[in-house]
Amino acid sequence: MSAKNTPLGNIRNIGIIAHIDAGKTTTTERILYYSGKEHRMGEVHEGTAIMDYMQDEQERGITITSAATTFFWQKHQVNLIDTPGHVDFTAEVERSLRVLDGAVAVFCGVGGVEAQSETVWRQADRYHVPRVAFINKLDRSGAEVEHVLQEMRERLAAHPLQLQLPIGLEDEFKGVIDIINMTQIIYDDETGETFTTSAISEEYLEEAELHRLHLLETVAESDEELMEKYLTEDTLSTDDIKAGIRKLTVDRKITPVLLGSSLRNKGVQPLLDAIVDFLPSPKDVPEMTGHDPEDHNITFSCKPSRKEPFCALAFKITDDQHGPLTFLRIYSGELNEGDRVIVSSSKRKERASRIWRMHADHRDREKVVGPGEIVGVSGFKFAATGDTVCAEGAQLIELEPPKFPATVISMAVEPRSNDDRDKLMEVLQKLSREDPTFNYRTDDETGQLILSGMGELHLDIIATRITRDYKVACNTGNPRVTYREAVVGSGKGVGEFEQTMGGKDHYAKVELNVSRISSSEPELKISAPESVINPYSHQAITDGFNGGCISGPLGGYPIIQIAVDVTSGATREGWESEVAFTAATEAAMRDAINKAGAELMEPIMSLEVTTPDEFMGGIIHDLNGRRCEIQEIGDRGNMKVVHAKAPLAEMFGYATVVRGLSTGRASYSMEPFAFAPVPRKKWSDILGYDPE
Ligand code: GDP
Ligand code: MG
Repeated sequence: MSAKNTPLGNIRNIGIIAHIDAGKTTTTERILYYSGKEHRMGEVHEGTAIMDYMQDEQERGITITSAATTFFWQKHQVNLIDTPGHVDFTAEVERSLRVLDGAVAVFCGVGGVEAQSETVWRQADRYHVPRVAFINKLDRSGAEVEHVLQEMRERLAAHPLQLQLPIGLEDEFKGVIDIINMTQIIYDDETGETFTTSAISEEYLEEAELHRLHLLETVAESDEELMEKYLTEDTLSTDDIKAGIRKLTVDRKITPVLLGSSLRNKGVQPLLDAIVDFLPSPKDVPEMTGHDPEDHNITFSCKPSRKEPFCALAFKITDDQHGPLTFLRIYSGELNEGDRVIVSSSKRKERASRIWRMHADHRDREKVVGPGEIVGVSGFKFAATGDTVCAEGAQLIELEPPKFPATVISMAVEPRSNDDRDKLMEVLQKLSREDPTFNYRTDDETGQLILSGMGELHLDIIATRITRDYKVACNTGNPRVTYREAVVGSGKGVGEFEQTMGGKDHYAKVELNVSRISSSEPELKISAPESVINPYSHQAITDGFNGGCISGPLGGYPIIQIAVDVTSGATREGWESEVAFTAATEAAMRDAINKAGAELMEPIMSLEVTTPDEFMGGIIHDLNGRRCEIQEIGDRGNMKVVHAKAPLAEMFGYATVVRGLSTGRASYSMEPFAFAPVPRKKWSDILGYDPE
């Protein structure tokens, strides 16, 4: 089937989200296999999985970069993005969710709702993404359906609606009972390609009927018309049931739950049916809105129509053996090969020299693509992740870019020679354009190059890419925590700038107050009346504010949790100057922050350790020695789960420690939670001097 002919209503843009190891990649492999796209099944543990195509991923057995792929099922075009489960790559999940219309949440039938599945579930909530759930690994010992449903209710505040019952569990897992069609599906073929559908056997009938009753009632309650039908006919047709489930799912009132074991090739085809039947098409979700790049108060919505001007979000940039590739989610209009488009934020022109429909490791060239599609484009040079691109000559629109968390860890790199330094700068620029949670800067005092990212693994992989993929010789330092600074109380500051530059006089004076707020993101308010500060100068003041937040007075760390209110200012006739307002604002902020006083802030992580009971004492004892705050100890199957808040500074190399404490049987996951004040007695170690 040609993709061009797929009506909008038959497109599904979906992602698969889960805790690491729940089976996303294995499930994706099976999906591609059954949908006829692949003729061999890749296996994660053999390093041949099709979606995990980067060398690093195959060696480490994890999914780092989300790869987009298109397949067809039941006359529907499904654009699938495989997202990583490791929180070091949380940006990948964020940007995928931003452009997807629906998702499959994979849970492990033994592990249930694990820490990262909770995180990605909340991310999906934030982006209003409808979901179906797949409880995987029902062949594993300890697998159970009800406890996963219970955890979904308790930990995710979800409303799971079970559409299947398992036939046997663990070694005995054979297939599923389909509650919508009231049939029994047994997977008797090793590859799972064929299966036997029959009437439900006696032993499951009563339970199935009970579930069906619940299903009918849930569906009937969703819609008056269906309720009428249900009350008069005492049942509903399969089509009515499906339509009801679809509506409830798209409205995010329920999560349909499917069951299976991807590794054992069971339950994947019904999951594919559910993706098509219940997840929304691009026209079932609210129209994407954006604003005028010049005036954020003017908003536009992007209609998913080919007749509208072209508008798309660049949500990912990769660079491989074929060169750079920009992934676009198209919201309206068409993109033709060779088209010129404009990057809304910078107004720079780009040319779509080739358009590709992507498979994990190959691509098909397309001449024209339309709304709802996810494609890779080559030829773009300037668009960065999060940028909007629009048709040349049309109204420019800026769509809301995905939100990315602050970096928490940094590492120095040193090129081995001057030649390497130039090459390194080029590579760093490229990598940071691709990955919005990776950035770099030159330290003002030491002249060292500092890389910042989301975790030890994140920086480790970046270092490997620099040295191995780009062949730049360099030494790397130990990873360190990226601290922040915050004002302690509030303070008033004044800044003045007066100078003659290039034959022109520049003068500005700015008065402002700083105070502490709970949100990390610095906030600026300009309350000075127009008679005192002309609105023309607001941009210059904003630049000064941004500059003033870059480094704090204690250790030059970025300033967070600060609100700045510009209360007054002045300039002289003929001396008005943007440079002067920017510089005066920065000076006023330094003054105010010094008066308020500053304190050091550190990243606190949310930590979850899963361990057999016998090692729990040792693990908790060790956590107590790391300034951790134990919050909850729960059970998961026959394992104990410890939840704690942990200062990142104390958690370096924890992977090795936790293995040592549990003969390799405990595992953990960790993600940024918040910033909190560093205990005063630690300051001098961090700063290298005592600020008193
Ligand atoms: P991901 O990290 O979520 O992408 O998970 P993977 O697909 O890489 O799977 C993690 C591990 O679990 C691999 O060793 C898989 O072979 C295994 N696995 C995946 N699905 C199943 C399943 O249904 N049953 C069992 N027993 N193992 C599975
Ligand atoms: Mg994976």
